[in-house]
Amino acid sequence: MAKRDYYEVLGVDRNASPEEIKRAYRRLARKYHPDVNQGDRNAEEKFKEVKEAFDVLSDATRREQYDRFGHAAEESFGPGGFGQGGFGSFGFEDIFDTFFGGGPRGRRPAGPQRGNDLRYDLEITLKDAAFGLETTISIDRVEECETCHGSGAKAGTAPERCAHCGGSGQQQTVRNTAFGRFVSVKTCDVCGGDGTIVRERCPVCRGNGRLHRERKIEVKIPPGVDTGNRLRVSGEGEAGIRGGPPGDLYVFIHVRPHELFRREGDDLFIEAPVSFVQAILGAEIEVPTLEGNVKLKIPEGTQPGASFRLRGKGIPHLRGYGRGDQHVRINVKIPQKISGKQRELLREYARLAGEEAGTPDKGIFEKVKDALGGK
Ligand SMILES: [Zn+2]
Ligand SMILES: [Zn+2]
Repeated sequence: MAKRDYYEVLGVDRNASPEEIKRAYRRLARKYHPDVNQGDRNAEEKFKEVKEAFDVLSDATRREQYDRFGHAAEESFGPGGFGQGGFGSFGFEDIFDTFFGGGPRGRRPAGPQRGNDLRYDLEITLKDAAFGLETTISIDRVEECETCHGSGAKAGTAPERCAHCGGSGQQQTVRNTAFGRFVSVKTCDVCGGDGTIVRERCPVCRGNGRLHRERKIEVKIPPGVDTGNRLRVSGEGEAGIRGGPPGDLYVFIHVRPHELFRREGDDLFIEAPVSFVQAILGAEIEVPTLEGNVKLKIPEGTQPGASFRLRGKGIPHLRGYGRGDQHVRINVKIPQKISGKQRELLREYARLAGEEAGTPDKGIFEKVKDALGGK
């Protein structure tokens, strides 16, 4: 059964405004809705037909397609038409090229094609991420064959024009339908879309014109990178086809976690263990940074968890000047074993501080109670 024209289905003019289309759809949908026509197969079919017509005509892009190609527009692109299915990311022109071989602009011979982009995952240390590095990576990529310069033909011979498609790389089939004459174009079976045929193949690439090569590429990682950054190395991807430009190489950065430093943006965090005596009396301690140890003075009475900032000892900003800071968090270590003499001295200390050995300081609990809103 031939499909009815969508405008006819909705009973509107071809120039109908979106408003008129919506109104016509509402009226018909109410009339044929399955809820008001229970068990009526005919009404159900009518409802589907109305719904389909509205779906297409209410979508500006699909309506335009329908106006140009009729139902064939919907058929060629599968249910859902444009903007759905696997073609959502392509513009209209791209789809046109794919299905109609250039469409109204006429046939195009198979043209140059850009080479594929390549991805390389590079794992680096935190220090390299901070200060940058120059390194050589090894990639396997498709390159143009130097022997035949990409033509695939043996030295002294040249590729011939494909007689089957006349060098266009495409084959046409013409289909006559109720809605008009449709020309569909597909890749030529004989030459595979190249438009040329190689009679005597280049022995090096076996006629492919391209071959796999292991290449060493120098990459320069700038200071300040982090996991998730990617660097584009222009033109170092795979070779193009039929003289097209090469693709790009993308180096994806992965920074290995560091055993001492934790990174947050461009700031670094580290824990510094100090003895309880150092915390009480104050001390000068050595703290590792990305550029070696530095001295840090902690004052008398430093509390556990106190944090000190080493300005400019973090990661350099990737864009712009300056660096992040390094934060040093004090971790007070309590000895698990002490000597008899040490114990004696601590008891003496407790007496002097007014603490009775073995019982908690009552004052502390009073303060906590106050903080909790108690009496
Ligand atoms: Zn070759
Ligand atoms: Zn051909």
